[in-house]
Amino acid sequence: LPPPCDIHPGRRTADGVELGHAASLAALCAEARLPDAAAAAPLVDGVALPGHVREVASPIDGATIGTVTEADEAIVIAAMAAAEAGFPTWDATPLETRAAALLAAADLIEQDRGPLIALLQAEGGKTLDDAVAEIREAVDLCRYYALEARRTLKPEALPGPTGERNVLTRRGRGVVACISPWNFPLAIFTGQIVAALVAGNAVVAKPAEQTPLVAARAVRLLHAAGIPDTALHLLPGDGEIGALVVRDPRLAGVAFTGSTGAARSIAQDLAARDGPIVPMVAETGGINAMIADATALPEQLTDDVIASAFRSAGQRCSALRLLCVQEDVADDVIAMLIGAAQELAIGDPRDVATHVGPVIDAAARDRLLGWIARAEAQGRLLWRADRDRPLPDRGHFVPPAVIALDRASDLREEVFGPVLHVVRWRADALDALLDDIARNGTRLTLGIHSRIGAVADQVVARLSHGNVYVNRNMIGAVVGTQPFGGSGLSGTGPKAGGPDYVRRFALEQTVTVNT
Ligand code: GLU
Repeated sequence: LPPPCDIHPGRRTADGVELGHAASLAALCAEARLPDAAAAAPLVDGVALPGHVREVASPIDGATIGTVTEADEAIVIAAMAAAEAGFPTWDATPLETRAAALLAAADLIEQDRGPLIALLQAEGGKTLDDAVAEIREAVDLCRYYALEARRTLKPEALPGPTGERNVLTRRGRGVVACISPWNFPLAIFTGQIVAALVAGNAVVAKPAEQTPLVAARAVRLLHAAGIPDTALHLLPGDGEIGALVVRDPRLAGVAFTGSTGAARSIAQDLAARDGPIVPMVAETGGINAMIADATALPEQLTDDVIASAFRSAGQRCSALRLLCVQEDVADDVIAMLIGAAQELAIGDPRDVATHVGPVIDAAARDRLLGWIARAEAQGRLLWRADRDRPLPDRGHFVPPAVIALDRASDLREEVFGPVLHVVRWRADALDALLDDIARNGTRLTLGIHSRIGAVADQVVARLSHGNVYVNRNMIGAVVGTQPFGGSGLSGTGPKAGGPDYVRRFALEQTVTVNT
């Protein structure tokens, strides 16, 4: 594994004091500074192109934090042509040089942490812990993919009959589209791009509409690290811009992270266009469950549920949506859980004591508030945070909430926010519960809290979720240690931050020479 990034969120006590680690939270907080006049624009061959300009508003308080110039159809066509033209030179650049650019990018991202923390907070609504953890993940991804590329993209001599030499080589595929989400506007954005680049591809990157400023800063750092302007192009814009890229016949591959619905429509566009059949790496959502039996340690379970369901305001695709707790202990567990949730500090994420910041935009807030209100009207709401105290009156805040359900399969959509659903199960009905959990078709993360090894084994044997966490929280997969990603409605694989990811972006060529 590469050496870990030396920025670390550290461990925080209840009163906000951090314990140990290279960079303390207080020091990182002091470094956070928004860049003057933050701006994002389409970048084609390193040239910022003009177009429709709009202001970027912070989800925290609606303040304008910068501007974005959005791409249009003509700019998409220009970017695709530039990427196609830039591809051969980059593909012919030695693997070692490409990997060195990723290592340089890691260093630059680490050094740029002050503005990046400020942007991740102001544009993405992230708490300080989440912003710091995200920078660390972006750095780790650059270093890990550089080392994996060196290891897995080298030509391999293969055994064959006498008189023949067989070599399997790996090279770039062409122009790869990287379409990324707002919830990890730095780490997922950068990870997709550098994996595609290090394999020799040219990249056209389409960041989420909500987070163009972080993306533009990351692209500047990648170029400064030695990625040629001709190999990496940026297209800020909405889903329609992504669709134009995907329908372009020059496209040779897609890396996508986002909703299952958007992944389906990308797959449909790829299938319908005139052009080659190309691979798509999709990482989508999950209706993620945690199963707790009567042997779970209540304090540990409570901590892990709070972190998994409410950290990042529940806006991770790994987040816990459905706690399945054994009937015998359910009343106690739910009471402890609500007690702990009442302690969550909800507010401006730039305040170091805040646990839960805003959700990303007004549409997300309204959807989540509607979901909670419907549960309340049906008599299923167990708790909502704004019963105990008011939420900030500006910004896109949603009260963390706990909702009771009768069956696991009653939850059929990914509720992407700080909303936890709870079901009870009887000790003799674990198999039926597992069947019911499997019905939603997503297979991303799965939590198990039990002190009986055989229970964890039974769950793992029945459910093939991509990331299973036993007796701990179920978010924050670590690069290279917990490769991340699921199957079914949760994505195609290979796992991000895992050993097979970079190779997926390479074209394999077998050369057989009669000697
Ligand atoms: N890898 C992240 C985690 O383990 C989640 C990524 C996502 O939300 O897309 O929490």
